[in-house]
Amino acid sequence: MGEGALYDRVAFIGLGLIAGSMAHAMRRAGMTATTTGHTRSAGSRATAREIGLVDQVFETAAEAVVDADLVVLAVPVGAMGTVMAEIAPHLKHGSTLTDVGSVKQAVIAQIAPLVPEGVHFVPAHPLAGTEHSGPLSGFATLFDHRWCIIVPDHADAQAVDRLARYWRALGADVDMMDAAHHDLVLAVTSHTPHLIAYTMVGVAEHLRRVSDTEIIKYSASGFRDFTRIAASDPTMWRDVFLTNREATLDVLGRFTEELFALQRAIRTGDGDLLFNYFTRTRAIRQGIVEAGQDTAAPDFGRSSTGTGR
Ligand code: NAP
Repeated sequence: MGEGALYDRVAFIGLGLIAGSMAHAMRRAGMTATTTGHTRSAGSRATAREIGLVDQVFETAAEAVVDADLVVLAVPVGAMGTVMAEIAPHLKHGSTLTDVGSVKQAVIAQIAPLVPEGVHFVPAHPLAGTEHSGPLSGFATLFDHRWCIIVPDHADAQAVDRLARYWRALGADVDMMDAAHHDLVLAVTSHTPHLIAYTMVGVAEHLRRVSDTEIIKYSASGFRDFTRIAASDPTMWRDVFLTNREATLDVLGRFTEELFALQRAIRTGDGDLLFNYFTRTRAIRQGIVEAGQDTAAPDFGRSSTGTGR
C-alpha cells in the first residue's frame, strides 16, 4: 500500500498547532485521505474553514469522527477524557484512535477505559512544537526529523505499524516507549525546562531593580530563549504539570539539589566545580546538535524550525 492510502478518512479533534501541522504535512506528503475536524470555539472553526485546514469542519466532535479510519485527539491533556466520552459511541469498528498529548500515563488513564471493542487505541506524542497555538499556527515542516514517540502498550501490531508509517510520512522519526518511561524522559527534556523558563521570566518580573526596558533591551543574552519558552500556551502547560506531577516533581527535586550545589560553589569560590560542571553540560549540548535534534546556528535555527516539546 502506498502512503497515500494509509487511511481513507482522518478526523482531528482539536484544530490547533499540532493537528493543523499534521493536516498541512498530510497534504505535503500527497496523502489522499479525506480530512475532517472539530474545534471547540466557533471562532476557531470559522478560521479553520476559511483557510481550508481540513476538508470539512463539524460543529461537534461526534459528527467529525463518523466513518473515520484514524481519529486524532489533539486537545489539551486535561480535556482528553471529556472529548473521548463524547466521541466514543461514534467511532468506527476497526478504526485507530490516537492522541498527541504531551503526557502519556494520564491520557491513557482517561481514554483507555472508554475505548469501544474493536477500536485500536495507539497513544503517540510528536516531540515538536512552537510557542504558538490555534488553527493559524500549524505548518507542514513542524515534524521533520523530530521524534514521534508511540506507546504501543497492548495495541494491535498492524494498527501500531500503520500509525508509525503515517508519522514517518509526516516527516517524523518514530520511536516506541512505554508510558511511564515516556513521562520521565519528557519531565527531564521538556516539562521541567519549561517550568524553569516560566520561573526565570517570573523572577525577572519581580526583580524591580532591573527595569522592564533593560530586560527587553538586553534579553539576547540567554533570557530571550526563556521568554520564548515561557510564552507557551498556559492551558497546555498547566495540564502538563497537573498530569505529569510525579515525574516532574522527581526531576525538580534533583534540579534543586544541583542548584544548591552550584550556589555553594559560587559562594565558596569553587571554580573547579563550576568549570567541570559546565564542561559536562557543554558536551550534552554538542550531543544534541550531533544527533540532528538542533542546530549550532547562532539563533538555534529558530527562524526555520520549531522546538522539541
Ligand atoms: P492549541 O494550538 O492550543 O490547540 C488546542 C485545541 O484544543 C484547539 O482546537 C482548542 O479549541 C481545543 N481545546 C482547548 N481546550 C479545550 C477543551 N477544554 N475542550 C475541548 N477542546 C479544547 O494546542 P496544541 O499545541 O495543538 O496542543 C494540542 C495537544 O498536543 C495537547 O495535548 C498538547 O499537550 C500536545 N502537544 C503540544 C505540543 C506543543 O508544543 N504545542 C507539542 C506536542 C504535543 P479552540 O481553539 O476552538 O478553543
